[in-house]
Parts: sequence; C-alpha cells; structure tokens
Amino acid sequence: MKGKHQLAEAIGRRIKGRVRVDAPMAALTTFRIGGPADLLVEPMGTEDLLRLTEILSQEDIEVLVMGRGSNLLVSDRGIRGLVIRIGRGLSRLRFESKDLVDVEAGCSVNRLVRETVRRGLGGIERLFGIPGSLGGAVRMNAGAFGQEIGERLQEAWVVRWGPGDQSGLFKKGTHELNLRYRDCDLDRNEMFLKFKFRFILDDPQLLEERRKEALFWRKERQPLGWPSAGSVFKNPPGMSAGELIERCGLKGKSVGDAVISEKHANFIINQGRATAAEVRRLMELAKEEVFRREGVLLEEEIRLVGEWGDDL
Ligand SMILES: Cc1cc2nc3c(=O)[nH]c(=O)nc-3n(C[C@H](O)[C@H](O)[C@H](O)COP(=O)(O)OP(=O)(O)OC[C@H]3O[C@@H](n4cnc5c(N)ncnc54)[C@H](O)[C@@H]3O)c2cc1C
Repeated sequence: MKGKHQLAEAIGRRIKGRVRVDAPMAALTTFRIGGPADLLVEPMGTEDLLRLTEILSQEDIEVLVMGRGSNLLVSDRGIRGLVIRIGRGLSRLRFESKDLVDVEAGCSVNRLVRETVRRGLGGIERLFGIPGSLGGAVRMNAGAFGQEIGERLQEAWVVRWGPGDQSGLFKKGTHELNLRYRDCDLDRNEMFLKFKFRFILDDPQLLEERRKEALFWRKERQPLGWPSAGSVFKNPPGMSAGELIERCGLKGKSVGDAVISEKHANFIINQGRATAAEVRRLMELAKEEVFRREGVLLEEEIRLVGEWGDDL
C-alpha cells in the first residue's frame, strides 16, 4: 500500500469529491466519538465512486463504507485504511412511476419518507426519525414499529472492488441480500450505490398521521437530546433488550461520560466527552449483568469499527 498522503493525492487527482487525511471521525458520527480515519473520501457521484473502486482494486487497503454514522462506534485510535462516506454527492431521488422510486444510497431515510408520504405511498412512514442514509438503513435492514426498510426494496445496485472482473457495478435482488433482523448479506468489498423501492398506495393524510405518531413516540421515549447511536443491542427473539437491561437496575449506570439512558435502557448516551473505550466497557458491563441475572446473551446492534488494540 502507498503512504496515506501519496494515496490521497492519487485519489484526489481522479475524483471530484473531497479527500481528507487523518479525518476526525467524532464529527461524522451521531455518538460524537471516534479517532481519526487515515483517509476519508466523499464521492460526488457514480463516476467518482467507480473511479475510486478502480484505484482500490489495485491497492491492498482496508475499506470501511459509511453513511451518516448513526449506527457506528468508532474506536478512540480511529480507523486504519480508507473510509468512503456515502452522502450528499450520492443522494439523487427519482420516481420511475407512481409507486416505484429509484434512489441513491446517500439519500436520508427521512427524505424518502417525506417524499413518499406526500405522494400517498405507504410502507416506510413509521421509519421517520431514523437518522441514517438509505445505504446504512438497507445494510442494517433498519426498522421501527413493525416496518422494515427491506420490505419495500425491489433491487439494489452494488459497487464491488477487487482484482480483475470482480470489480464493477452489479444488480442484486432481495433474495441475494437475504435481508433479516438488523442485517443483510453484503461482502466486505461491496457497497450500495442505489436502490429501487416499490411502495403501497395509501391515503396521504393517514400516512402523515402515522409519520407524526412515530416521531412523537421517539421524542417521548428516546433520549434524542444526547449523542448516541440508537439501540445498542438487538432485541432477543420475543424480548426487549431495553427491558432486560432495565430489570438489572442499570438505568443511569455510567463509565466516564458514557451513560445508560434513564429514558431508554437500550441507549447509551455520550454526556460530554465519552470515549469509545468507556462506551465499550459499559456495553460489556450491561451484557455481563443481563447474562448473569436474566440468562440472556445480548448481541450488539451498533457496529464497532476501527483499531481497538488493548483499549478495552
Ligand atoms: C437516535 C437514533 C435512533 C435510531 N433509531 C433506529 C430505529 O428505530 N431503527 C433502526 O433500525 N435503527 C435505528 N437507529 C440506528 C441507525 O440510524 C440505523 O441503523 C441507520 O439505518 C444507519 O444508517 P447510517 O447511514 O447512519 O449508517 P452508518 O452508521 O454510517 O453505517 C452502518 C452500517 O452500514 C454500513 N453502510 C453504510 N452505508 C453503506 C453503503 N452505502 N453500502 C454498504 N454498507 C453501508 C456501514 O459499513 C455499517 O456497517 C437509530 C440511531 C439513532 C442515533
């Protein structure tokens, strides 16, 4: 692999988007936590992304794809390798027909909900308030109040990098993605570029009510005033991770500035200068307590990324 400055220069020469060296990740995550990424690239369109993957196919470098960083815990040491941030430069949205939308992965979930509700298209109105990009939402098969983004997905366009004819742009059907609770199948050298979603015709007023209801519920029960990454753990089958943590008396428990929210026990909030190591220690503590007292092993929903070493 080339040095990071050399690689940044080589990428910068070929793409329009921004390329940064030692980019602080805390500013790019909703947790407001995380050390620097060696390299951060923000592609400004499909052409940029394809050029970038051509370069990556020739380099031996770790790559992390991110959207709005709302489901990530980035380590304090930061990320070795390259981060591709899919955002505003890849957020086009186009209605192909009355109920079929073609939309890029950098578009926000909230924008798509607004656009569909306005047109009387149902199926994702209850996802309003999820602060992610569509790329991140499909990767996580994000869901709320009985709706999941994957249910409306028709197909995904995936960019793959790697040697020879492995790289390029490919279409994947939903069966290939194997969408399931907060996960789907995607190889490490693949990322989402765009999607087609088909929605259900419904009454715009009713949809708007459901959208508002979902937002109201979030504001009532989630600590939205504090930096967090949403639910820390997945709900075990038939159970609520938040309830399990609450039953162990852990609401308000803290490690440094990382605190288990009093409002929702499955949220860890950053009450100031929490480090990733503190969040992780608190996660371990919650996991151990829930296992010891309730006999249930919680599984992380948030993604731990970056270089951890002996931080824990
Ligand atoms: C206050 C709050 C409330 C939340 N509520 C919910 C909720 O109700 N339901 C829910 O499911 N989630 C919820 N979340 C979690 C989070 O918002 C979702 O998982 C969201 O969909 C993640 O999108 P993102 O763009 O932020 O992804 P990121 O956090 O940037 O990335 C998440 C994962 O997706 C991958 N990824 C991102 N973009 C791409 C791409 N283009 N191609 C391939 N992989 C990609 C990343 O590598 C990573 O593995 C909440 C988070 C917060 C902070």
